[in-house]
Amino acid sequence: SMQVRTCVFQITAASLLFAAAYTVYTDRLIEPLPVRKALAGTIAFAAFLSALVFVGILFPDITFVSARNAFFVSIVCHFAIAVFVLALVKERAEEGLRRLADLDVLTGVPNRRSYSLRLPEQMRQGDAIVMIDIDHFKRINDGFGHLAGDEVLVRVARELSQRIRPNDSFARFGGEEFILFMPATGLEDAVSLADRARQSVSAIRHPIEDQKVVATLSMGLAVCEEKHCTPHALMKLADMALYASKASGRDRLTVYRPEDFSADSSATTRVRHAG
Ligand code: GH3
Ligand code: MG
Ligand code: MG
Repeated sequence: SMQVRTCVFQITAASLLFAAAYTVYTDRLIEPLPVRKALAGTIAFAAFLSALVFVGILFPDITFVSARNAFFVSIVCHFAIAVFVLALVKERAEEGLRRLADLDVLTGVPNRRSYSLRLPEQMRQGDAIVMIDIDHFKRINDGFGHLAGDEVLVRVARELSQRIRPNDSFARFGGEEFILFMPATGLEDAVSLADRARQSVSAIRHPIEDQKVVATLSMGLAVCEEKHCTPHALMKLADMALYASKASGRDRLTVYRPEDFSADSSATTRVRHAG
């Protein structure tokens, strides 16, 4: 009966441990933490050990490992499992912190910091940057209050972030301004993607106090035309194009073209930053 009890114990342990190892391993698709593989491997080994002891009791002739040795190895195994579980808890906490630090608190889209970290040091020919600013946002704040303004901001940010492609980077740049980086896109595609995003935002009817409020966007787009550009230079050009969108009536996308901006570019940038 002692043997029966050991058998039941070992086979139960083996099944539960196998199930645990399987779950820990497959859950890496939901929560990819590095320690999962080591933890799953160790649990699977512990399961295998229990299975071996079980087989050894059933068939004493083909015993691979004595119950006593298996017991010592399994103690070491379970100690390792405990250590890996602690590592998993730590990795999970770190991942959470990292996500918090990368996302804008209000809108939930990436913040400027994480955006900058993801930008390449050198941009290449065809890379595009779009600077985006909500038109007359002060009117929404002044007319309906700051909280209503926040709701509009959240909706605009979500809409924009849903329209970007997997390799694009999008962020809340600050206030009611956003920035979009589209690598290897080229002028034509960049314009059509950005302008479609602009139109989808202006199609939103924000429900505020029984009204349907529309928030339009001004955008400035600059594409790297040289072999290489610095992100800073490209952002500056996109910013100049954004200012041109504001100056020429808002609710539009302006592409930076050197011939349109060469005359007094320093003056236009100064005015925009002053306003
Ligand atoms: P335009 O860009 O078309 O020239 O006009 P604007 O009214 O949008 O101009 P401006 O950029 O000067 O004003 C932006 C306003 O956005 C000012 C600021 O109070 C408001 N704002 C910035 N951040 C937030 C925020 O997080 N929530 C709310 N509700 N308002 C914000
Ligand atoms: Mg602004
Ligand atoms: Mg604005």
